[in-house]
Amino acid sequence: MAETALLPVWALLVGLTLGSFVAAAAWRLPQGISLWGRSACPACGTQLGVRDLVPVLSWLMARGRCRHCGARVSPRYPFVELATGALWLGCLYLVPEPAEAFTLASLGTVLLLSSLIDLEHRYLPDGLTALAALLAAVPLALGLAGPLTALLGALLFGGLSWGLRAVVSWRVGREAMGLGDVKLMAMAGLWLGPGLLAPFLLLAGVGGLVFAAVRRLGGDTAPEVPFGPALVLSLMVLLLLQWGGAAPIPGAWPGG
Ligand SMILES: [Zn+2]
Repeated sequence: MAETALLPVWALLVGLTLGSFVAAAAWRLPQGISLWGRSACPACGTQLGVRDLVPVLSWLMARGRCRHCGARVSPRYPFVELATGALWLGCLYLVPEPAEAFTLASLGTVLLLSSLIDLEHRYLPDGLTALAALLAAVPLALGLAGPLTALLGALLFGGLSWGLRAVVSWRVGREAMGLGDVKLMAMAGLWLGPGLLAPFLLLAGVGGLVFAAVRRLGGDTAPEVPFGPALVLSLMVLLLLQWGGAAPIPGAWPGG
């Protein structure tokens, strides 16, 4: 069918466009700037038009500079746009059912924004975690998950990380691990159910070590390591494996 053949093109276009929004929001949200205002060049203040806002292409055509004043535009914009485009195309490719693929891609887009803010500003916005938790209503509606499994997962993941945070904070005598991480863990449990706790922690732990090593190589010696991106990566990998049917995971949701 023609519509099915065009799906990857749509997925890529939606992903690239949402990527523009994510890149802008990662810059605007922490500064409290409205997400809905028109984009303007931060250097010269010129409002950007359609020609300046085509994902990836505008940046390439203007060779990474503002078309009006010549100020440098960070390569993070095309990079985040490409990453979001790849996320949408990748989900469609890995998950056979388009409705499920786009649900995962939407979740990944919200969590990519969270991760970018955590990496740069060391906090996970509650609103984004809440939005990711709300999206978990979709698998419930699609019959991919039972509400009890989801609730037990959220309680187990959230309770465990809350307890861990309390113990570690008491041991080191200062607040270890942000409350944002605890909320993110509870949200992940909602999506994964209690049976996937062990593989989730394993993947997140490995991811966290790799991130920490990369940061140290990059010369970043800040004591607080943002753990959000590792949690997000672990959640997305497990969901893609589970929903993509690539690997039946023991303890996964029945029928998932
Ligand atoms: Zn400018």
